[in-house]
Amino acid sequence: MTDTRIDYAPIAPITPTADSLSVVSCNHCGGALDVDATTRFTTCGYCGTRLRVERSATSLSTIELDDLRERTDDLERNVSVLRSDRRVEQHDRSWELRRDEFMITSGDSDPRLPTLHGALSRLIIALLPLGLVFSGWFASFGDSIVPIVLIVIVFGIGQAALEGFKYNRYRAARAEYRQQRAVLLAHGT
Ligand SMILES: [Zn+2]
Repeated sequence: MTDTRIDYAPIAPITPTADSLSVVSCNHCGGALDVDATTRFTTCGYCGTRLRVERSATSLSTIELDDLRERTDDLERNVSVLRSDRRVEQHDRSWELRRDEFMITSGDSDPRLPTLHGALSRLIIALLPLGLVFSGWFASFGDSIVPIVLIVIVFGIGQAALEGFKYNRYRAARAEYRQQRAVLLAHGT
């Protein structure tokens, strides 16, 4: 489009005409265009570029509308990416807070997230004394110790079950968090 401008090199007045027509040059090809005092938009007769007429006290110029639109589109895209980033960030942060609800604290150890492995380990450890009860190892302590051992075992099973439940709820919540995050990333706006 630009290489046709030589063929169409305009012969145009460069001073305002009597009936308030002014000449402005096309921002794209440099062609001289007549505009009147009220013209805000025009299309270049030489290269076909759509233009906005910019007026100041002392000068007239043109801006390519397609350029403007591209810049606006870029800006909108950037804003939408930023907005999406912020939503994902907020989503991540609220998940970190929510995750704390599932934390397991036991003894002096740091709070940790429930795991299936953790629940099964607890169950195995809880059931270990059962073997000793059946083997009669506790007999030397007298029968009165058996109920205490059983209570310890039941307590251990309860702890294991609790971690199992927590793990299930945590896993469901995590799946939901990940799914929503993927939706936020995919839709962007
Ligand atoms: Zn032009």
